[in-house]
Amino acid sequence: MSSPLQSVHIVFIPLLAQGHMIPMVDMARIFALRGAIATIYTTPVNALRVRTTIDRSSKLGMPIRLVEIPFPCEEVGLPIGFENLDILPSPELLTKFYSALGKLQEPIEKHLREQTPAPSCIISDKYIFWSSETAKKFGVPRFIFHAMCCFSVLSAHNLKQFNCSDSITSDMEPFEVPGMPKGFKITKAQLPGNSVCRQDFEVFRGKIQEAEMAAQGVVVNSFDELEHGCIEAYQKAIGKRIWSIGPVSLCNKDESDMFQRGNKASGDSEKCMAWLDSMRPRSVIYACLGSLCRLVPSQLMELGRGLGASQQPFVWVIKREEGDSELENWLMEERFEEKVKGRGIVIRGWAPQVAMLSHPAIGGFLTHCGWNSTLEGVCSALPMITWPLFSEQFVNEVLVVDILKIGVRVGVKVPVRWGEERKVGILVKADEIVRAINALVSEDEEGEERRKRAAELGEKARQAMQEGGSSHSNMSRVLQYIMAGPTQEAV
Ligand code: UDP
Repeated sequence: MSSPLQSVHIVFIPLLAQGHMIPMVDMARIFALRGAIATIYTTPVNALRVRTTIDRSSKLGMPIRLVEIPFPCEEVGLPIGFENLDILPSPELLTKFYSALGKLQEPIEKHLREQTPAPSCIISDKYIFWSSETAKKFGVPRFIFHAMCCFSVLSAHNLKQFNCSDSITSDMEPFEVPGMPKGFKITKAQLPGNSVCRQDFEVFRGKIQEAEMAAQGVVVNSFDELEHGCIEAYQKAIGKRIWSIGPVSLCNKDESDMFQRGNKASGDSEKCMAWLDSMRPRSVIYACLGSLCRLVPSQLMELGRGLGASQQPFVWVIKREEGDSELENWLMEERFEEKVKGRGIVIRGWAPQVAMLSHPAIGGFLTHCGWNSTLEGVCSALPMITWPLFSEQFVNEVLVVDILKIGVRVGVKVPVRWGEERKVGILVKADEIVRAINALVSEDEEGEERRKRAAELGEKARQAMQEGGSSHSNMSRVLQYIMAGPTQEAV
């Protein structure tokens, strides 16, 4: 029997950054699972990272495909292959990166014109501003994806609306963010600012805002029960439909999907999974600071010292970078891995994070509070140690520690903005890491309550994605909206 969804064709245009691309690939797979045709546009280097996942979904019968468009590095003066923000060595190249992104518009539109069925809707990253024009040309709605939670997007909206940056004079004095359903305090220093706030980037910033305003709706990788009224409040504030359809990572049920998500897992990963099998349930701390962590080696050494000094078993993910020989030398001189053998494992490169977090031996997550990682921790019912680095991560920390009450702060007070890592140096000492780990694993009442809340939240996350759950129902609503045709009223 043919379904009306068979002619619904949704086009996904993710930003070329792991924290944006990974959830959008999951999202596309969820739409395809429902029967809509999903086309994801990306560039060759990024396609290589997710091709296996898409091919597997496609072989299972999902109407999904990945289309590669060459990234015009040479044309804009970027070194060849610099196709993802995690490859870009410095913020100085960001303007060129965005110029190259802009040049994807024409070939994508050309490819789209040749497609049958024609596109019914575009879901694009907020930063792919030109997709607003593309949607107009094709006469279809466009929804944007922030790759953040509504709690942080609403905070940013309110701070701007109430002109807070002018009225708050102290950088380090906590102040109340106005207009939030659940009040909270933060310092001005911890707000998402931007080291890349360069003059030449301003032209893009204006266009991004304009395109955001023109969008018909917003899709959010979150779920209603997590956001404490922020989704409704944000919907009211911007007068657009907002659909929370996550946590999208929960669509990865198959072991291979979990293991290969977002990139090829590092060679150490399989050994690590086998080691986890031998560990006591809920005994291991998984420490990973995201895909863009550029902390200086001396800070990473402190993290290593902290993990080493705590009595807790751990997995420590460190990104292998050009020029990180300083950290490698330290690991060798300290005979770090030898000393922690049996209790701790180091993964160099890309860890299969969702597979690891889902392992029964993992009992806590030391995270930088990137939104995807935060949500993945929630899905695995894990209490968290929070170590925000930059962007909206300090706001996410507030959500985890103060609102959801499932986290312990490591105690970092200021961000490490891109390009300023050396200037900032060491912000967290080994003993603070040991203190946070001890607090997290403590069997006192506070520790038990934290674990209980994390377990309840994990259950709510799973329920949200099941039939009848909030995100599952929201997904049906998005599809209904798309099927109803191009001209619909805002909320
Ligand atoms: N991730 C992973 N392995 C790694 C590092 C990151 O699978 O070694 C994934 C992680 O599961 C998450 C994404 O990359 O889905 C990172 O997004 P997040 O928003 O947490 O942080 P960002 O990297 O954007 O700072």
